[in-house]
Amino acid sequence: MTSKPHGSGMALGQPDANVRPSILDKCTAFRIPDELKAGGLYPYHRIIETGQDTEVQVNGRKMLMLGSNSYLELTTHPRIKERAAEAVRQYGTGCAGSRFLNGTLPIHVELERKLADLVGKEAALVFPTGFQTNTGVISSLVHKGEYIIGDKYIHACIMDGCQLSHGQLLRYDHNNMADLEEKLSRLPEGAGKLIVTDGVFSMEGDICNLPGITELAARYGAQVMVDDAHGIGVLGPQGRGTAAHFGLTDEVDLIMGTFSKSLAAIGGFIAGTERTINYLMHMARPYMFSASASPASVAAVLAALEVMEEESWRIERLWENTRFLKQGFDELGFDTGDSETPVIPILVGEFETCLKMWHFLQEEGIFVNPVVPPGVPPGRSLIRISVTAGHTREQLAWALEVFRKAGRHFGLIELGA
Ligand code: PMP
Repeated sequence: MTSKPHGSGMALGQPDANVRPSILDKCTAFRIPDELKAGGLYPYHRIIETGQDTEVQVNGRKMLMLGSNSYLELTTHPRIKERAAEAVRQYGTGCAGSRFLNGTLPIHVELERKLADLVGKEAALVFPTGFQTNTGVISSLVHKGEYIIGDKYIHACIMDGCQLSHGQLLRYDHNNMADLEEKLSRLPEGAGKLIVTDGVFSMEGDICNLPGITELAARYGAQVMVDDAHGIGVLGPQGRGTAAHFGLTDEVDLIMGTFSKSLAAIGGFIAGTERTINYLMHMARPYMFSASASPASVAAVLAALEVMEEESWRIERLWENTRFLKQGFDELGFDTGDSETPVIPILVGEFETCLKMWHFLQEEGIFVNPVVPPGVPPGRSLIRISVTAGHTREQLAWALEVFRKAGRHFGLIELGA
């Protein structure tokens, strides 16, 4: 049913009894994308016609991809693609049911064993996506009267998990241990407490202060959960993630990861003790009531784990590329925040300048992602760059030249840089 236009026949100051509001009025009124599109500044939903990891075609034009999370360049790896195709031939294109009921294949169980071993935990559980992993784990573990203490920069799906739980969320200033301690010290001693953080922060590329967090957790009797979406395959020996990077695997209770970055597919997982995983298998609603990860995805991740181990040069190359690009940006004088990983933000500041800079880079042939509020706090809009193992030195050197032009144009670096 359509509503009558607002205001028709309305006496001043009085609600019009003839106007029936529609739940869809807000959609009709939502004009932000139209305005950005009209100004040629709409950066989302670009169609990638070919390519994936380092070079893509958009609108018939080749572009250098600096906005993919495929850190190890595995989404196009021939062996991984073949294993996904084989799984489709063997099991079909979907499981037509949840893990709980008819959606568990031998490869799901095999993958869970391998993921638990990778991150050094007793057991692991695979979810259809990383997003569902966080919402499912947090909402089922944290109950009324219990607390979640989360970094201010935690990912959106951790936030949603907190909102779905019946616990109370407190947020501490980004990576600020004094503030975390202040929050912990206010909580009742006997109450359950979960500290949640990204391992590698998804927009700023900095690493959480895990030694500080685990030390405070031990002191205040809290458990620790690390979302390692951007740490698995990147940090730690053999890409085992942030906890392994710090040698603190035993001090972290729950390690979460996703397949949508280094691991070449889609899906997510949580790892912890056998008892915790058993509980989540019977309590985490996004696990129980959503279809299980597809055979192609699961087989692709199994193959990606093998390739990650056998082709260890990929992690080395990823870090060489990261250091090269980061040093280049630093020498040019860009503000890259506290980035220490392949995720490198160029801090621009205002929303509109950020979109204009994105447009400039797009015109020059570089695919990057602008990140504006609510993805980042107001005034902290940034161009998010992600490097992969597949980029060549020539590609990165060329990108630095383009960024030099853009940086001068938008006054982000000195004219002489
Ligand atoms: N956590 C973090 C830190 C992420 O960056 C993302 C994806 N952007 C997710 C969780 C969600 O993962 P998925 O894409 O597998 O749903």
